[in-house]
Order: sequence, then structure tokens, then C-alpha cells
Amino acid sequence: MSPSPEKLMQYLLMLRNSGVTDKRVLHAMGLIPRDPFATGAFQDRAYEDTALPISSGQTLSQPSIVAKMTQALNPGPRDKVLEIGTGTGFQAAVLSQLARRVYTVERFSKLAQSANKTLNNLGLVNVTVITADGSMGLPNQAPFDRIILTAAAEDPPANLLAQLKTNGIMVLPVGQSSTVQTLIKITKKEIGLDYEELQEVRFVPLLSGLA
Ligand code: SAH
Repeated sequence: MSPSPEKLMQYLLMLRNSGVTDKRVLHAMGLIPRDPFATGAFQDRAYEDTALPISSGQTLSQPSIVAKMTQALNPGPRDKVLEIGTGTGFQAAVLSQLARRVYTVERFSKLAQSANKTLNNLGLVNVTVITADGSMGLPNQAPFDRIILTAAAEDPPANLLAQLKTNGIMVLPVGQSSTVQTLIKITKKEIGLDYEELQEVRFVPLLSGLA
């Protein structure tokens, strides 16, 4: 069920007040309903700015964080984007509105299947969900214009940096899973990497191997 116009307006205002100023990102957030990505009773809280529990002990990220990470990633209409940590598929759905192609990788096959179903139901045909260990990246589709991780790594994974194009951008939370992490934006230059710290965040850890 899509939200009422009032609820949607409130949600978009909340996103704007939290620091999301990019009109394309706000537009994409408005086009993707969040309730189909929430589980059972939590669908009632889909338009609140809160993370929600999903199956396999994982979480649907807070919408303002999804929007801010999308804003930092700044995907363009011709871009091929890689997301590590599909979860519900919500972040991938938002990216699908801004990029040409989205590949999203999840280590729990149950979550990947459920995300795939939700994305199909919404008719989002430019997203491909893959069950794999995302810390290896996706070598057969590399290189990518943009890479986003929605699980926290202790350091930016070298495999993923290697699959990022020159002038490409990677956004990820870094830090130990038990503490507050830092959201960072890495720009790959001709020579070297540019790091920008964005804000404190809390994500589940990036784990290796299939679940
Ligand atoms: N982006 C999601 C929320 C992410 S929760 C959404 O929009 O709903 C983080 C997800 O990362 C979890 O589902 C977890 O299983 C997954 N994950 C953790 N380590 C991973 C890895 N190495 N490869 C792929 N997925 C991983």
C-alpha cells in the first residue's frame, strides 16, 4: 500500500530537514515506497526515520541514512553501481532511480530472494540481486562507476577499490561493528585516493563467506 500524500510529504520534509538537499535524491526517495521493504507489523512504521529489523538478524536502514549515502554516492544516469549488503533491497531500489544499472550482493540467500521479489513487484528491472560474498566484489561486472557498502568494514576492502573506475566514488561505513562507525566517501583519483568523513553511523558488520 502506498503512503497517503500527507504521509509522503512529511517523510520528504523529514529527509530534507535531516540534510538531504539533492533534489534528484529526494525525488527518488519519493518514488520508492518503503513499506514493501518492511516486515509485518513494522510496515506501519515505514515512513518514520528509524531502522527496522528484518529476518536473519539484519536491518532495513534508516531512510535519512539511505538518502544521505545516496547523496554522497552521487550516481549519474549512465552509471553502473555495485551495492554490497542488499538486505531488503530498499537502498538498491532508490539507486535504481538514479543509475543505469544496479548490481546488489547479499550473503543470505533468503534475503536476496525476498529482495528480488520486492524489486520485481515494483517493476524495477535495472537491479540484479546476487547471492555471494560481497567482500570479493563482482569481478565479472567490474569496473563500477560507484560502489556502496551498507555493512561496516574495518577498512575499505582492497578488492572493491580495485573494481572502482578512476574518478569513481565509494561510500561505506568503516569501524568495528560493536562501536560507532564513520561513514566515509572515497574518490579514486588518477593517483591515489581522496577520503572524506561524513558522519557517525551504525551498521551491521561486513562478514566474509556465504551465510
Ligand atoms: N541495504 C540494506 C540494509 C543493509 S543491512 C537495505 O536497504 O535494506 C546489511 C546487509 O549486509 C545484511 O543483509 C548482511 O547480510 C549483508 N552483508 C554483510 N556482509 C556481507 C558480505 N560480505 N557480502 C554480502 N552481503 C553482506
